[in-house]
Amino acid sequence: MMRERGKVSIVGAGPGDPELITLKAIRAIENAEVVLYDYLVNKQLLDYCKEGCEIVYVGKKNRQHTYPQEDINKMLIEYGLAGKKIARLKGGDPFVFGRGAEEILGLKEHDIEFEVIPGITAGVAVPGAAGIPVTLRNVASSVAFFTGHQCANHKTEIYWDKIATGIDTLVFYMGVTQAPRIVRNLMACGKNPETPVAMIRWGTLPEQEVLKGTLGTIVQMMEEHNFKPPAIFIVGEVVAYSEQLSPLINQMAESEIE
Ligand code: SAH
Repeated sequence: MMRERGKVSIVGAGPGDPELITLKAIRAIENAEVVLYDYLVNKQLLDYCKEGCEIVYVGKKNRQHTYPQEDINKMLIEYGLAGKKIARLKGGDPFVFGRGAEEILGLKEHDIEFEVIPGITAGVAVPGAAGIPVTLRNVASSVAFFTGHQCANHKTEIYWDKIATGIDTLVFYMGVTQAPRIVRNLMACGKNPETPVAMIRWGTLPEQEVLKGTLGTIVQMMEEHNFKPPAIFIVGEVVAYSEQLSPLINQMAESEIE
């Protein structure tokens, strides 16, 4: 019975560079009869699809939702009930700001088999590939991940007063348009305006752009460079170490944008 209903693999496709994906994820793509993929998934990964595989783009770009989440949930259920092997490809890791859990709940309601294939999340990989370690001995022993966007009906909030001084490295996903608010809240809660920060756009990819400054300067720098999403915003002393640790390619990307 279960098998007739097909199976959904909720697959983390990694941060961008098509080589930064797991073997297990590739196997799921190769075996899939249907692939549903998001905006941030590298399209080169679709080359692993077998012949005849149905490939469906369900991505959203910023706030222009190409597909409402409910419709994606429904599609997964429909394909699952039709007995298909489905790979649901998501950028980074499916459970880090990826709504993977919501999709699974829908599948469970219909007794559709699923598996979770974790991926390399952008919040660690994007700074890392640019030479910024999210933790560093004697410099940063804690790191936390935040979403810069909160939906209108959100039931959680960011405790700015606690995080501003209580955590060493702060990593914001979806933080470009909200950067002024993030910076304002952190400084209002006691974060030093001199704290080193970086905005990294399209990290791990050839088109990567890196902006480095301080909490106090980054918003103006972003305006000057007309800096656009998608980017990871990283706040903390670790950013200062990137000069020593970043590979040459990233230094070139930086000078390009200046
Ligand atoms: N599940 C994903 C995150 C989805 S939220 C993960 O685990 O990585 C989408 C946000 O991730 C983007 O707005 C951006 O902040 C970040 N992001 C994803 N890929 C990125 C990349 N290559 N470079 C910079 N930021 C990226």
